[in-house]
Amino acid sequence: MSGRKAAFLDRDGVINVDHGYVVDPAALDFIEGAEAAIRRLNEGGYVVVVVTNQSGVARGYFTEVDVGRFHDHLRERLAAAGARIDAIYTAPHHPDATVPAYRADHPDRKPRPGMILRAFADLDIARDGSFLVGDKKSDIAAAEAAGIPGHLFTGGDLDVFMAGVLAAAALDPAPEGDR
Ligand SMILES: [Mg+2]
Repeated sequence: MSGRKAAFLDRDGVINVDHGYVVDPAALDFIEGAEAAIRRLNEGGYVVVVVTNQSGVARGYFTEVDVGRFHDHLRERLAAAGARIDAIYTAPHHPDATVPAYRADHPDRKPRPGMILRAFADLDIARDGSFLVGDKKSDIAAAEAAGIPGHLFTGGDLDVFMAGVLAAAALDPAPEGDR
């Protein structure tokens, strides 16, 4: 089977501390071990893909441009630590949006798997060997809907957590087609 393995990461509460609608670059506080965890994934050959719901756009708190600016800053801070995110997918919609253009029960918004499915196609990612780490049940539901394992991160050091996830994955026998 073709395709690369990917690590899908939720953003708020996994990579950065979830202060609630984080968009100001000055409010970027990394979760303990986040940079090291992403570096570990880079070195392990994983495509690192962030999949993040940002309903603050739909609620009119900030714009997609603001979100992009935050993500530029996030990438710069990670680069300074020798870590790299390969792609970021954002779901700006919400069914109760105050901004009409974003009022939708959109297939990208977790717990729906749209962002993950798009990444599979865009980045030549295989389900086999890929997984997601998120801090909410909706993240895990999106992973399961996309056909990959979801691991619930409940706090602590993300790099320690990630090392455990990768160790467990290494013990899992590869599907026949990958041998
Ligand atoms: Mg989260």
